Amino acid sequence: MGTTMSPSRMTVDELYEQKFAYAAERYAEALRIFPNGATHDGRAQSPFPIYIARAEGSRKWDLAGNEFVDFLVGHGALLLGHSHPEIVRAVTAQMERGTHYGAAHELEIAWGRLVQQLIPSAERVRFTSSGTEATLLALRLARAYTGKSKIVKFAHHFHGWHDYVEVEGAEEPLPSGVPEGTAHTMVVLPPNEPDILEATLRDDPDIAAVIIEPTGGSFSTYPLAPDFLPTVRHLTRRYSVLLIMDEVITGFRCAPGGVQAATGVIPDLTTLAKVLAGGLPGGAVVGRAEIFEYLAFKDDPAWNREKKIRHHGTFNANPLSAAAGTTALRIIAEGWPSRLVNDLAQRLRSELNAVIDSHHLSGCVYGTYSMFHVMPYNPDSPHEKLNPYDSSRPFRPLHEVNPVLHRKLRRGMQVHGIDLMRTGGMLSVAHTEEDIRRAADALDRTLGLLVREGAIPGAG
Ligand code: PMP
Repeated sequence: MGTTMSPSRMTVDELYEQKFAYAAERYAEALRIFPNGATHDGRAQSPFPIYIARAEGSRKWDLAGNEFVDFLVGHGALLLGHSHPEIVRAVTAQMERGTHYGAAHELEIAWGRLVQQLIPSAERVRFTSSGTEATLLALRLARAYTGKSKIVKFAHHFHGWHDYVEVEGAEEPLPSGVPEGTAHTMVVLPPNEPDILEATLRDDPDIAAVIIEPTGGSFSTYPLAPDFLPTVRHLTRRYSVLLIMDEVITGFRCAPGGVQAATGVIPDLTTLAKVLAGGLPGGAVVGRAEIFEYLAFKDDPAWNREKKIRHHGTFNANPLSAAAGTTALRIIAEGWPSRLVNDLAQRLRSELNAVIDSHHLSGCVYGTYSMFHVMPYNPDSPHEKLNPYDSSRPFRPLHEVNPVLHRKLRRGMQVHGIDLMRTGGMLSVAHTEEDIRRAADALDRTLGLLVREGAIPGAG
């Protein structure tokens, strides 16, 4: 008998290193260029990442030709799938007409008007180049308009990486590189605790705004109690504090008009990016016209010097992003894309849950709208079925409670042809029943391996 290990006895990590062996060499080179060999914290992967060469629809292929069903969908940007033919045509045609005019152009008006038509809170629009820039500008607008300095954010709610939103709470260490003075202008509260929010808004007269991810922290990884969002709106109104809804992920995805259209909870300011720009870079802040006055020049030098917010950005509303964005938003305005992905995700969650049940595990696959997250076991009580929506028990997702299993699950799914975002992902209109079947099959095989390795607490 030879000495090669039989694939059936190999661990998830061994299978990963074997299948993607080609990546080790690229990674060694990348390590000499990038910290961690990565260009984004979320893309750093050990022992090395996969290297993608091409993508189309719901699929992507690595340098060795391995095919993946892609549930990252451009970190959520590709609601219409990779390289949607209409977007490719629009962007290619725009390339030939110029990529940057350093001037006003008609496409920015068409793009802005679509945003205004779709997003209920969008009386006015200002484009940025990313979601991080959008939340940065929204915070500055809120502070300028109210004349107050503090912002309330919720623990684990992600709003990009600028100094303000990096702050994770008084008990957490100060984020490296963020000045203390900046951190002290942020008040981080636990979500789903209306009494704590109310006491904070009532007792601190210096709060300009509350910012929230409307489906829960980190694209619904941290579930939000169903009545919390309307309660936040109610309390912010009562205490005259602005509400900023961060719809960078959810805008145009959960419904054409975002979560605000789906729920009727209308914020004062909204941040948008991702789907907004049809797969190219782009972001926006939208909101009440009265607040947007603070971005406008007036025939009043004192106003312009003391009150107006300065805002530049080389690639704001650039013609390529505007071409992709208008094309995407026109399709999304038809309504069917959100309905389709929400429906598909519901079926995906239920198929994946059936797999978890078939392995007699206490975890579940949860999420809202077109998002899903896999939690293979109940960390508090490994033999009791987990309910992430039971707000009487604080819920901690897999990457927090078991980072080793989190990494193994992702690698195992990649070995079986599925690429996840963290331990879940999002859907696009290009996903099919076949993709759902493949995901269920991959989860089945991956859980089988992980149970055999003893990587899942309470299993077997
Ligand atoms: N807000 C939310 C809710 C996000 O998910 C993200 C990105 N994942 C951002 C803001 C930051 O957007 P960007 O990556 O475009 O800077």
